[in-house]
Amino acid sequence: STERSLNFIEQIVEDDIASGKHGGRVHTRFPPEPNGYLHIGHAKSICLNFGLADKYEGQTNLRFDDTNPVTEDTEYVDSIKNDVRWLGFEWENEFYASDYFEQLYQFAEKLIQKGLAYVDDSTAEEIAEQKGSPDKPGTESPYRNRPVAENLDLFRQMRAGEFPDGAKVLRAKVDMTSPNMQLRDPVIYRIKHAHHHRTGDAWCIYPMYDFAHGQSDSIEHITHSICTLEFVAHRPLYDWFIEQLAIFPSRQYEFARLNLTYTVMSKRKLKLLVEEGHVSGWDDPRMPTIAGLRRRGYTPGSIREFCDRIGVAKRDNLIDVGLLEFCIREELNRTAPRVMAVLAGGRPDEQPLKLVITNYEEGREEIMRIENNPEDPSAGEREVPFSREVYIERDDFMENPPKKYFRLFPGGMVRLKGAYIVKCEEVIKNDADEITELRCTYIPESRSGSDTSGINVKGTIHWVSVPHAVEADVRLYDRLFSVENPAADDRGFKELLNPNSLEVVRAFVEPALVEATRSGSLTNVQFMRKGYFVLDVDSTTNRPVFNRTVTLKDGWAK
Ligand code: ATP
Ligand code: MG
Ligand code: MG
Repeated sequence: STERSLNFIEQIVEDDIASGKHGGRVHTRFPPEPNGYLHIGHAKSICLNFGLADKYEGQTNLRFDDTNPVTEDTEYVDSIKNDVRWLGFEWENEFYASDYFEQLYQFAEKLIQKGLAYVDDSTAEEIAEQKGSPDKPGTESPYRNRPVAENLDLFRQMRAGEFPDGAKVLRAKVDMTSPNMQLRDPVIYRIKHAHHHRTGDAWCIYPMYDFAHGQSDSIEHITHSICTLEFVAHRPLYDWFIEQLAIFPSRQYEFARLNLTYTVMSKRKLKLLVEEGHVSGWDDPRMPTIAGLRRRGYTPGSIREFCDRIGVAKRDNLIDVGLLEFCIREELNRTAPRVMAVLAGGRPDEQPLKLVITNYEEGREEIMRIENNPEDPSAGEREVPFSREVYIERDDFMENPPKKYFRLFPGGMVRLKGAYIVKCEEVIKNDADEITELRCTYIPESRSGSDTSGINVKGTIHWVSVPHAVEADVRLYDRLFSVENPAADDRGFKELLNPNSLEVVRAFVEPALVEATRSGSLTNVQFMRKGYFVLDVDSTTNRPVFNRTVTLKDGWAK
């Protein structure tokens, strides 16, 4: 939306353009580490980075931040590219930090030659000890003053594979007394004899994040490098490397990461959910991943709208997942065709209720024409077969109704959506005293569209003709976690997960729905009065499977 005021990053960009910095050029990047699937937090970053480029006629690179050989995989690379495109963005260049390994190595040698980096034989524990704590200065490593020539020789041997993992590291020589712990001689290279998803076994030393990230930005001449707040303390180091190496001056800006209620957002935790089998995979419709949201029925537009509405914050916050749900509900209200589906659980009292219209001729069949979307006349109408027997929702009937109950009850009348007014004449029960069937009569003059009956009924309910009904599986999804902020809770997944996050029920749906889904012409639908649903990939030609995207705020007639 163009009316909202500028966010603080747009303000910075506009100031830079106005001052002619970098010739007014705007070049951003989205830098995922390919160690998991993208989630809604990444979508925020994607919308921000690509959005800036779109708005200011700039460019955005997709850069895989693949400097850690152990956790990365091409499966993730492929899913990330797919998800960025699905969200509606196209990158200028596809780059890999691993393509810069030789350049980064040369940068490291340059620092050594300037006396600004040294090979350290200390163990990880000793280095942590030397760094100490922010309240007092650290202590210098005994290797800190190795001569340049010795450092160069050792670093080359590290590269040549002369040492085992962990034997030595390369450290930047910055300031062991700095109150900023990031500046206390950070490790910039470590030895890791590991196979890399792109460079294979070419390298056995790998740059650390801080040494790779800013320099990669600089190599690509990125003007605005946007990351999340945890990197504020890294910025002085980011600038220090650029200054000492005298390379293109990319600048880092930080914004608050997106957190959502009732879910977790770290890839590590999402991976655990998958590995421990709490969900069916990265694309489980309960996951906050892009793949999960897509399978849940979210559209790219609804996710972009959500990212726009939450804005760009400077302080960490927790966004109500209800806002995300609002965005998809609002879109689907405008776009999703309405269909009728009668849901039925597994227990007898959850079975749909059969309604037999005794004065409707046996074997007779009518085709009702019902509008697809009252919000959108151009969506047209569909044909819905009607017959003597229809299913209705079990809770659309009450034997002993309270006052102001407008649905069906003994002696009461209701309109069957798009068809006729019926009156409940008789309730049939089995030996267990369960209602198995309702006997009704219909008012022939009350046909929708040509009603001359003069009868006014308050309630309208949905229905599906028994002989025409198609059975489907319906997955009713709810929040994955039962606590608002699981990331801030020390208890394990087992105690935090919502045990009712998935309920599978049967449904009887209109045949038109099945024809449309078989031909692939229909994905998102509204099951009238029930919510928005989407066809799942697990569907077979004979048995469709629908996932509930989100419930309706309310039905049209209670
Ligand atoms: P995670 O903690 O989930 O692993 P990450 O930051 O390590 O996240 P990356 O693959 O490095 O994951 O992230 C790519 C980009 O997306 C980074 O620029 C990062 O700042 C941004 N990003 C990641 N998570 C969020 C979030 N929750 N909100 C906003 N931006 C995010
Ligand atoms: Mg990261
Ligand atoms: Mg991470």
